[in-house]
Amino acid sequence: MKNFWKFLILTIVELCFFVFNPTNLLAEPSNPSKNLSQEYIYHTVKKGETLGSIARRYRVSESEIRRWNNLRSNKVYIGQKLIVGVKEAKEERIKKEGAVVSDTERIFFELEREYEKLLSNPQATKTDWLKLLSEYRRLYLLYPSSYTAPKAILKTANIYLHLYKNFSDLESLNKAIERYNYLIKNYSRSSEVEEAYYRLILIYKEEIKDKEKEKNLRVEFKAKYPKSIYISKLEEKVEVKDIKKTERKEKEIKTKEPVTETAKEKIAISDVSPKKVLEVQPVTGEDYSRVIINVSDNFEYQANILKGDKDRPPRIYVDIYPAILDSKVSKEIEIKDALLTGVRVAQFDEKTVRVVLDLNSLTSYKIFKLREPYQLILDLIGKEKIQKSVAKEASKKEEYINLARQFGLGIKRVVIDPGHGGEDPGAVGPSGLKEKDVTLAIAKMLAQKLRSRLGIEVILTREEDKFIPLIQRPAIANSKKADLFISIHTNASPDSKSCGIETYYLNFTTDPEAMRVAALENAASDKSLSDLQDLIKAILVNTKLSESKMLAEKVQEELVKELNKYYPDTINRGVKYAPFLVLVGTRMPAILVEAGFISNPLEEKRLKDQQYLEMIAEGIAKGIEIYIQSLKFSQTYYDKRS
Ligand SMILES: [Zn+2]
Repeated sequence: MKNFWKFLILTIVELCFFVFNPTNLLAEPSNPSKNLSQEYIYHTVKKGETLGSIARRYRVSESEIRRWNNLRSNKVYIGQKLIVGVKEAKEERIKKEGAVVSDTERIFFELEREYEKLLSNPQATKTDWLKLLSEYRRLYLLYPSSYTAPKAILKTANIYLHLYKNFSDLESLNKAIERYNYLIKNYSRSSEVEEAYYRLILIYKEEIKDKEKEKNLRVEFKAKYPKSIYISKLEEKVEVKDIKKTERKEKEIKTKEPVTETAKEKIAISDVSPKKVLEVQPVTGEDYSRVIINVSDNFEYQANILKGDKDRPPRIYVDIYPAILDSKVSKEIEIKDALLTGVRVAQFDEKTVRVVLDLNSLTSYKIFKLREPYQLILDLIGKEKIQKSVAKEASKKEEYINLARQFGLGIKRVVIDPGHGGEDPGAVGPSGLKEKDVTLAIAKMLAQKLRSRLGIEVILTREEDKFIPLIQRPAIANSKKADLFISIHTNASPDSKSCGIETYYLNFTTDPEAMRVAALENAASDKSLSDLQDLIKAILVNTKLSESKMLAEKVQEELVKELNKYYPDTINRGVKYAPFLVLVGTRMPAILVEAGFISNPLEEKRLKDQQYLEMIAEGIAKGIEIYIQSLKFSQTYYDKRS
């Protein structure tokens, strides 16, 4: 009770703050360089200008300019590009400086400066480079359709190439090749593609020494970009390396150890050399099984189903090649479920690993490959599919009741998935609050409410601070035969003012904002989004799309309603859909709730408050309850009508 009063008073204080200080959300944060939504321009320092004169010109302080540009002193030099935050009318600014810099360009510009710094620092370590690389990667994952995305991808490729050359890191060369190819495939209209071709051709010429591949690439490049300046650079017999100033520096600080011949040979082989099958992991249930095969690098595969005879059971086999079996993988995994009796793994021949699934009876299956980390996923589908086809033949009424039972009356088990965990903290708020802790707290509260109020069984994908791969989470729900799957997350945005609640269901999308959130949530597994879009188009057939959408609508509505009682400023961002890896393959209505922006200082503060989390759990619970009721109602309605 005491707590309740304390809470009430705090709430009232906070509400008053809002009513009387409507500019609160727009208030200047203490560190302007972190306020990504302020508009910035580049100012190029001209002759005779000082930091003071520039500050006066833009009506900002000298210390602000120093902070935006990480300057240690007031010294500026002619030609130096400075970032300046501006508050003047847009038109006036454009008159003065030409162009306004977008958020992404500003971030990119900052990363470029960091890049230059590392290049000129001979002590820069591999870790320093990898850190910068992940920042570029983050930029293009967050804004895949921005002007800076192809530039950032090119940069990650160039950094990998740099790591290979300076740290003799063979794996980095393969990664560089992969990034250049990714750029060529996905951003064919950007000018960065030309440099990607140029670099790739040089790699095959000088590092891998694969003449055929080099020739093919040259032909392809010339056909696509006949006027590119890189064509003439390639044609000059003498290797041209100083395309850009930065590269000249790169050359200067390059360590003197050349890559040895043996190293080069190794790379040539590694292009086709066997990859390692690292793990074969079955997740099984009564009428669903998923087998996850982890492979060290890109691979090919072929799958087949065998009917079996009186001596041998039906089985599915998958050949993975070129691949060798890691010694740690167990050769036989015994399983006792309705679908599988066992999984056997063996080195079939020199370059092929064969995985055999022994089946109880013939069953349909889905197979799909994921990248980074490379995985092959096998989903076995048991009775449900048969039930469905039976339902099709049955009368319309029976079908309807069957569906209602399946989706409504039969809701006995819910799986709640607290996002992230363990080594993956999820998004982190400005004061350090971690998404993984918030999601676990909400999930536990929600579980309790559902158990006590609806009397249904609730299973959490994790009960503690533990890492669980994204691809395993829907498998848990499927194997437990859950009737609903609720994944809980908090949102994040580079714009610290972004706030509000949104609920997602699985589908492919063209909405850049939804793509951004999906990239954010999928980042832990590093799959490329375009791959995922294709994958989802292929497997969507078995996904409960309209039920998921309905569930998302009820949860979103009730959650916002609940929060609005105490926080009337809560923004309803609506129901959306996007390719979330954590929802791929779910066989029940499945949603992902983004319960506020942890990147927004005010919402982060609220997310630290247990009472606020209780309200979120309450809202989601009510949404689920109403969803279940609506199904019961529609069945009663149908019964009365017929
Ligand atoms: Zn998340």
